[in-house]
Amino acid sequence: MKKNQLQNEDAPEKGLDEQEALETARRCLGEGTCSACELCSFLCPELCITRNAETGRIQIDLDYCKGCGICAAVCPKGAIRMVLEEGTK
Ligand code: SF4
Ligand code: SF4
Repeated sequence: MKKNQLQNEDAPEKGLDEQEALETARRCLGEGTCSACELCSFLCPELCITRNAETGRIQIDLDYCKGCGICAAVCPKGAIRMVLEEGTK
């Protein structure tokens, strides 16, 4: 199954706790390319992309990401990249 880059890099089988998910999302979206336009958030069918109310940054709850790739496809900044999860072909 495909998931976004965050899931492939860091998510163990048990999933991430809230803090781990936030830190991972920051890494994926925090390299200066995400403009926090929220387009991905509006189009995510799982509603797992949100804006952090305190920081204003976009974050992804990987526990609910199904790997559809819509967010990566619509992002005008190319801030999200889809990769295969470890252990899948
Ligand atoms: S749009 Fe799809 S790939 Fe992106 S976060 Fe939502 S469920 Fe995951
Ligand atoms: S669509 Fe791209 S630039 Fe816009 S909030 Fe999502 S990741 Fe950031």
